[in-house]
Amino acid sequence: MFVDRAIIRVRAGNGGNGHVSFRREKFAPKGGPDGGDGGKGGDVYLVADDNVNTLFDFRHAHDWAAQDGEAGRAKQQIGADGADRDVRVPPGTLVFDNRAEQLIVDLAPNQRYLIAKGGKGGYGNEHYKTSTNQTPKNGSPGLPGDQFELRLDLKLIADVGLIGMPNAGKSTLLAAVTDATPKIGDYPFTTLSPQLGIAKLDQTRRLVLADIPGLIEGASSGAGLGLDFLRHIERTRVLVHLLDAAPLDDSNPADNYRLIRKELETYSQALADRREVIALNKVDLLPPEERAAAAARLAHDLDLSGTERILVISGATNQGTHELLEHLWNILTPQAQTWKAPAPQV
Ligand code: GDP
Ligand code: MG
Repeated sequence: MFVDRAIIRVRAGNGGNGHVSFRREKFAPKGGPDGGDGGKGGDVYLVADDNVNTLFDFRHAHDWAAQDGEAGRAKQQIGADGADRDVRVPPGTLVFDNRAEQLIVDLAPNQRYLIAKGGKGGYGNEHYKTSTNQTPKNGSPGLPGDQFELRLDLKLIADVGLIGMPNAGKSTLLAAVTDATPKIGDYPFTTLSPQLGIAKLDQTRRLVLADIPGLIEGASSGAGLGLDFLRHIERTRVLVHLLDAAPLDDSNPADNYRLIRKELETYSQALADRREVIALNKVDLLPPEERAAAAARLAHDLDLSGTERILVISGATNQGTHELLEHLWNILTPQAQTWKAPAPQV
């Protein structure tokens, strides 16, 4: 599985201290104790929010604290409770106690889970007044809130799979358009390992891309692609088929396209049936005036209908990559989720 991971610290609010004071009024010079109780510290909740789909932004936001309770005051005034804090994470996030290596909760959609409890407020001295002690001089301190270091693990489902011949430029494109590289789980059944990245279209739209390492490479080395791996990539909703516009071996893009299609069908019909976007890559190697013609020639060679568009891109120079992402987004919308930033910290 692809795992997106973050380590965060959560700290619930401390309870406010109880207050020690005595009533001082004009006609009650020796008034009784009137120190109020401290407020309770705020709680920290983990909220599984459908609008959040990666742990990406936790990389820069490690500390999540709820507010402390206020101390009590004179005249029997109780301190205010600290505000709670919600930490928004994607549904399906596994939450571990990072020190104890123990699973705490597997968050279901919309679940709001109390992860760190705020400390109780202390008692003011008014609280200690008894029949035998009319002037207690002691209050009690607020209790500390819970603190934990958590590990958040999210199994990511790639929206987009990149396929193509070895050297078509899959790794380069992935590195060019994505800025997060989540940790990747082990695939014991294959020597090939998929790469995964998160492409940011803007503040709210993100796509998870998987580089599906050469099907051909796997087949020829006998490594093959494990069933688990296939099952995973079969869940990608659209494939980008990358074709080298100027292969060093003088093969032509149309032949390479058919070769990969054949491999795909051999490996998985489900994958072969997936919607596919064809991108002619490395066009920076062609003179500008020949790029459109090369795409048109490829479309012709592949017998594509007029409605099927071949995108012209370069992972090396980023030409056309933004357009590619927008095109993918349009295909995936409305299923694609809008990403929202976690609430800023206090
Ligand atoms: P992969 O095997 O499909 O992952 O291909 P890589 O991303 O490793 O690229 C193979 C080779 O092609 C490398 O030498 C890259 O530097 C080169 N390459 C990849 N993309 C481009 C591109 O857009 N333009 C040019 N000129 N070279 C590229
Ligand atoms: Mg590669």
